[in-house]
Amino acid sequence: MANFETVEVNTDLLILGGGFSACGAATEASYWAKKNGLKVTLVDKAAMDRSGAVAMGLSAINQYVGVKDGENTLEDYVRYVRQDLMGISREDLVYNIARHVDSSVHLFEKWGLKIWLDEEGKYVHEGRWQLMINGESYKILVAEAAKNAIADAGGEIIERVFIVDPIMDGNKCVGAVGFSTREDKFYVFKAKAVIAGMGGAVHVFRPRSVGEGFGRSWYPPFNSASSAYFTIQAGAEMTCQEIRFIPVRFKDAYGPVGAWFLLFKSRAISAQGGEYMVVREDELNNWAPYGLAKPIPANLRNYLGMLDVDAGLGPLYMETDEAIQKIADEFKDDPKAFKKKMKELDSEAWEDFLDMTISQAILWASLNVKPDEKHSEIAACEPYFIGSHSGGSGAWVSGPEDLDTPYKWGYENMTTADALFTMGDGSGASSHKFSSGSHAEGRIAGKAAIKYILEKGQDPSVDMAKVEELKAKILNPLDLFESHKDETTDVETNTNYIMPRQFLHRLQKIMDEYAGGVTSAFKTSKSLLERGMELLAILQEDSDKQAAQDLHELMRVWENTQRMWQAEAHVRTMLFREETRWPGYYFRADTPKMDEDNWKCFANCRFDPSSGEWEMMKKDVWAVPGA
Ligand SMILES: Cc1cc2nc3c(=O)[nH]c(=O)nc-3n(C[C@H](O)[C@H](O)[C@H](O)COP(=O)(O)OP(=O)(O)OC[C@H]3O[C@@H](n4cnc5c(N)ncnc54)[C@H](O)[C@@H]3O)c2cc1C
Repeated sequence: MANFETVEVNTDLLILGGGFSACGAATEASYWAKKNGLKVTLVDKAAMDRSGAVAMGLSAINQYVGVKDGENTLEDYVRYVRQDLMGISREDLVYNIARHVDSSVHLFEKWGLKIWLDEEGKYVHEGRWQLMINGESYKILVAEAAKNAIADAGGEIIERVFIVDPIMDGNKCVGAVGFSTREDKFYVFKAKAVIAGMGGAVHVFRPRSVGEGFGRSWYPPFNSASSAYFTIQAGAEMTCQEIRFIPVRFKDAYGPVGAWFLLFKSRAISAQGGEYMVVREDELNNWAPYGLAKPIPANLRNYLGMLDVDAGLGPLYMETDEAIQKIADEFKDDPKAFKKKMKELDSEAWEDFLDMTISQAILWASLNVKPDEKHSEIAACEPYFIGSHSGGSGAWVSGPEDLDTPYKWGYENMTTADALFTMGDGSGASSHKFSSGSHAEGRIAGKAAIKYILEKGQDPSVDMAKVEELKAKILNPLDLFESHKDETTDVETNTNYIMPRQFLHRLQKIMDEYAGGVTSAFKTSKSLLERGMELLAILQEDSDKQAAQDLHELMRVWENTQRMWQAEAHVRTMLFREETRWPGYYFRADTPKMDEDNWKCFANCRFDPSSGEWEMMKKDVWAVPGA
């Protein structure tokens, strides 16, 4: 076995991930840990300052309810999420996050985030729930607060350690194992409670950007289904594994469209000029009641555009020039004011990209795009797993203590595995929490985990023989490469192993062609999914034949394996749900209609680590009273 030092870390609470939800969890948990003499340890694969989906920054905070100013009620938010997810959401979780999210936003402002204010000193809204920010340093500010809180409570932050597997004691999670991405060190974390906050997943499906653009995607390439894999391997019940998210974004650099649709009120059209949301309005009747209520769910908006593309009416365009002109026209009688407004709009348009997707600004510049002169192409991206945005995939977690919800087994945000909590992209069926709601949910999970430790926490009982097995399994790709690398002249061609990039391409090809990816126009069927399952089973057999030349490739191997498990949970759940509920995310051509009688329910699944079997189950949807 590769000669790696084993580093053992003992802690009370272990937080996995250093992203938005983990920052929320660390800030809150450290406060309670300090009061009670407990230790909090946070482990991130990257450097917390710029890790996770907010790494590059954001241009808007997407969840702010505005309760203090009476702008909206919590029930309004619950209704909004229910509507956008076509009726399938854990309303208790959505409600719980909504009632805490404004305070997270107020904290961000206190920590130095510049939220745009109007002349009256009120927040500038992008849309009903969104606030405009100067967000280039958003992650740094929020991470700094979390780091300070951990330091103040005597906790520890360990960066550049890639977490692979949970350590289990029966159904109880007692820690995690991983390896340093910089040094030959294998880490064993032992804890009384664990929170998994390692984000969602990208590159499970073949991306649009291949060849020279490979790696580019809407979702940040660093998150590889580590949360899903971790909770699946712990034997925790998962939910909404079929609800992938497909955003429509500026094509090829995946730039955000929110400011264009919401702030600039831009229209999206086909190449022939038809506005698909207007031309195809009748289609929405087929998806009642959700198609007929406002706002129209994101997947249905995608779907109407996809129908245009299917009919050969593409490409689709965002009418940036028209939108800018319309706003500036209000000033047309005053040339000076008109010029000033045009300059302001131009800079807002570019800043939107520079705040969060710099490559879109570069692409526009290289293609000579002037948004006030010419429209820009938009397209549906490849599918992603992001439970905090408009998707829903994640673990099935216990609901809030004070709500009369049927989904409760103890501690808020605890999975069905004892002592294992999750949040953000890791927790399912509670979408539309975005950055602010993920932070708020992290605070909820952090506080609940400390409560668990105080009430039930016991010294973790860790079977070190099992840990040694995990170490051998995790480092095996290095051994495999070392043993066989000299058998061929090209290290990529070898009968004894497969390199991580080759494995990734195979996974992506299966998902793209059988599970409704871009080249299948997001369509699939029972037969395609069943064939996909056969191919995934063979891929799984080959997964322990992945080889790694160095630490970086070792990380790539485990990212691949984690993605493969996310893929399997996804395909199984799409097979289980015999209807089409989210056209625009995926379309099951053999069950093309929505079936409210039989499928207005959660589709949950659980992998049993001891038997290796999957169980699929339906769970009822519970509605918040009065919402
Ligand atoms: C492109 C894009 C645009 C968005 N735009 C907005 C917006 O405008 N406004 C808004 O409010 N929200 C926006 N969001 C949503 C927001 O970014 C997420 O809701 C939020 O980041 C989710 O928090 P999280 O903690 O679950 O995941 P993340 O913040 O992504 O954090 C995941 C963390 O896990 C770590 N990690 C991953 N794997 C491992 C591993 N194996 N071992 C250890 N650590 C690991 C990562 O390094 C990272 O620290 C956007 C998201 C995306 C992807």
